[in-house]
Amino acid sequence: MTNLKTYLRHQSLQKKWMLTSSSVIFISYTIICIVVYVFLHTWLLHEEESKVIRTSKDISSFLEAQGPNITIQQIQQNTGLLESIVDRDETVRMFNRDGVEILRINNTSPAAPFNTMQEIVEMTIDKQDALVVNEPIQLGFFQGYIQVIHPLTSFQSLMHYLLTAMLIAGLGALVVSGSIGYYLANYLMKPLHTLRASMKTVMDQGFKEPIQLTYTSHDEIGDLLKMYNAMMNELQIAFTQQQQFVADASHELRTPIQAIEGHLSLLKRWGKHDPAILEESIETSLTEIARMRKMIEELLELARREEKDEASEADAPTVIEAVIEEMVHLHPEARITLSKNGEVGPLFITENALSQVVRNIIENAIRYCEKIPEIKLSLFTTGNHACLEIVDNGIGITEDNLPFIFDRFYRVDEARNRQIGGTGLGLSISKMLLEKYNASVEVKSEVNVGTVFLLKIPLKY
Ligand code: ADP
Repeated sequence: MTNLKTYLRHQSLQKKWMLTSSSVIFISYTIICIVVYVFLHTWLLHEEESKVIRTSKDISSFLEAQGPNITIQQIQQNTGLLESIVDRDETVRMFNRDGVEILRINNTSPAAPFNTMQEIVEMTIDKQDALVVNEPIQLGFFQGYIQVIHPLTSFQSLMHYLLTAMLIAGLGALVVSGSIGYYLANYLMKPLHTLRASMKTVMDQGFKEPIQLTYTSHDEIGDLLKMYNAMMNELQIAFTQQQQFVADASHELRTPIQAIEGHLSLLKRWGKHDPAILEESIETSLTEIARMRKMIEELLELARREEKDEASEADAPTVIEAVIEEMVHLHPEARITLSKNGEVGPLFITENALSQVVRNIIENAIRYCEKIPEIKLSLFTTGNHACLEIVDNGIGITEDNLPFIFDRFYRVDEARNRQIGGTGLGLSISKMLLEKYNASVEVKSEVNVGTVFLLKIPLKY
């Protein structure tokens, strides 16, 4: 049993399928055959027994009907009628009380020993199986036995024929069930083989080749392949994004490091004794370090990707007012106002995420503005969403730059941005946070007029 289990464990699914289906079919067939064979054997043997008992009864009735005064000589002379009662392969003998044979019809078997206890016995006479009936008889003064011997040759050859036919049909069934099992397993395993090949390609070559699976049936395997395809596509996107992210991050972090390195070498060579150079280099290095710290913090924020908290709830006016207060404190020149249009219920987003998004947009509005920053926020409800519109009077964004401002490390004006201290990550973090809570952001802008951000955040209830 353990050997069979070990053998099966090392076989392919296709072989296991084929072996199991053919074994099940074969075992069921064998059980049916055994039941049919036993039933037929019992029934036919019973028929044979009835037949031989009937013959013996017919003979004794015939003889008894001749009257009590019939003599043995008369019976011996008149066997013609008795022969018509007896089958050609049956032998009938009549014995007197001393066991002397006084009459015989046919002679297909030698005499069988007597067994008076049983009416009918099955015994082997001269290497031949036969049914033997010994029936006591009394005709006038004559007392004796009638013995009917019924050979089982035709019964046995019929059973033998049946057994052979069943065995041949059984072997045929084994071959047919094996072939059907093989072709069925082959047909059903085909998509799994394709799936395995595709997985192997991904394992060997990564996501270089696009994943293509052609199985389109709407069954369990079809569903599995669809799920695999969707999963692999997501993985492929995540993998490409990850690669892009690492490439961008290392490129972006290299710039401040190079700037600091340059200034420190300058100082080492001849700037140590020049207070002006010393002051400028330290100042620039500190700015670059601050930029790098901000970038690292933002990169970590992007990489963290916490799970969505289903219990999140934020009271929009309280959160927005707190951010405005903080911004006004940092940039006293900025004029920031909030107008509320009707009651706005709690939003389905964490307070932290909402304040971070609003802070990023207001900071940009102040940063990318050449006049006195004027930022107008308005909060209202549409359907089951709350809308927050943030309008600024900044430099605006050109139409061709607009689709990319949410991309990581994207900056409209690289040189200007470096001066201002932007990292190109603020809006991508905001978009990621909003998407986590099924919220959306739209942007419209006009150069030298200003930019409008429209946030749509689902209401909690
Ligand atoms: P950064 O840290 O550089 O500000 P963001 O992802 O926040 O990065 O913004 C991406 C770019 O979009 C900025 O570099 C800037 O050029 C542009 N931008 C964002 N907000 C505004 C705005 N209110 N007015 C003008 N340009 C903006």
